[in-house]
Amino acid sequence: MICPKCNEPEAHRSHRKGLKDRIWASFSMIPYRCKKCHTRYYAYRAGEKSDRMRTAEERRIMKIRRALKWKRSKREWTIYALGIIMFAIAAYMFTRQTVPSQ
Ligand SMILES: [Zn+2]
Repeated sequence: MICPKCNEPEAHRSHRKGLKDRIWASFSMIPYRCKKCHTRYYAYRAGEKSDRMRTAEERRIMKIRRALKWKRSKREWTIYALGIIMFAIAAYMFTRQTVPSQ
């Protein structure tokens, strides 16, 4: 993480302690501490909102992670769509079979 005070990529996740940290955690904010200037601050665990504070490497990892997530959901949708098509075919065959022929 890039420190918002000194702009150095020296900030690391700090240990959660006390009520204040727990309150912030309920808003998906986790504490970070800068190794250089010792500033303690809170930032979103992930996501675009704190992109500005991420280093290039962290942004790259997050981009890959998002792409993987999307790929996974795309695969799930494909399976889902295939299931619907198979069901439609089965239903079509079934109705054709049960319609009494004259
Ligand atoms: Zn700092």
